[in-house]
Amino acid sequence: MARDYYEILGLQKWASSDEIKKAYRKLAMQYHPDRNQGDKEAEAKFKEIWEAYGTLSDPGKKQNYDTFGSAGGGWNPFWGWGFQAEDLGDIFSSFFGGGFWGQSRGWARRSSERRGEDLEYDITIDLKTSIYGWKDTLEFNKREYCDSCDGAGWSNKKTCTTCNWHGQVTQTSQSPFGVIQQTRTCPDCNGSGEEFEDICSECNGEKRVLKKQKLDIDIPAGIDDGMVIKLTGEGNAGVGTKTSWDLYVRFHVNTQEKWLTRDGVDLHYDLEIEFIEAVLGTKKEVNIPVIGKRTISIDAGTQWESILKISWDGVKHIERDAKWDLLIHIHIPTPTKLSKSERDLYENLAKEKKLNVNSKKWVFEKIFW
Ligand SMILES: [Zn+2]
Ligand SMILES: [Zn+2]
Repeated sequence: MARDYYEILGLQKWASSDEIKKAYRKLAMQYHPDRNQGDKEAEAKFKEIWEAYGTLSDPGKKQNYDTFGSAGGGWNPFWGWGFQAEDLGDIFSSFFGGGFWGQSRGWARRSSERRGEDLEYDITIDLKTSIYGWKDTLEFNKREYCDSCDGAGWSNKKTCTTCNWHGQVTQTSQSPFGVIQQTRTCPDCNGSGEEFEDICSECNGEKRVLKKQKLDIDIPAGIDDGMVIKLTGEGNAGVGTKTSWDLYVRFHVNTQEKWLTRDGVDLHYDLEIEFIEAVLGTKKEVNIPVIGKRTISIDAGTQWESILKISWDGVKHIERDAKWDLLIHIHIPTPTKLSKSERDLYENLAKEKKLNVNSKKWVFEKIFW
């Protein structure tokens, strides 16, 4: 069991949201990876602080934590937004830009850029949408460049007093060979020449902010179960850059609706007809789900389990210029319940064909073996 979140932030259980925020910012200032580069202890400490704050700053998670002693398996900002999984470790690593402060001014920013994360979105659609296509609006959270601190994670910038904006300090020491001058990177500002007084209140030092997105997408006609569409630049922004990574939308298709089933580019429809209809032939008006009304011609002498193929020009296949096939599977069930007059007709038919049938037994006896 992890340590108590309140304890981590040095708070009492009844701390107000303002106090929680204040405590986080104070500790984050102290242990932020920007200020403790390579310090594993500070890194672990900061991780704890960030996780504690992530839970206690969210009213829903805080209530869960206060009631059950857990926020529900750790803080994942993507829950409830259609995402299956997003590696929290990856998000956390955005703090560890490295080099942001450590390099010379000017090109420091470029070298400190870090790639963002691709996002995944799972969407379930019905058979009709998969055939005809449609539009949808995806709602999800993504991380964007923090404009408030210009991607720095800090605010209230001022000139470093140790190096006076030079980024370097010169030390002199006495040696047997004379005075030695040594110039090295300023330890207080890590060479940036600047000091920051406060952690950015918008991004809490993360350099990116989590924002709700609403994205309209076109669902292409013919999309199939398991297909993935890549939306370039709709994923998380990188750290220290406005460039965004990609969003992958994975489609799950309910491939069956009543008696209509989709299998790739084929549609199968199960149709039951009367034995007499199979013998004499007919035209049947059928209301097929998704497709609508169709008149289906049954030839005289149609056999059990035969398949009628109807080329259907309604929709083209997504990947190639092919048309859908509608395959009608003919089922001819043997009647099990006959009215008195129907039974007479069947018996007359049997007489005509000189068949030895035992209709009385067939109808009234139950057979147990
Ligand atoms: Zn910020
Ligand atoms: Zn300095």
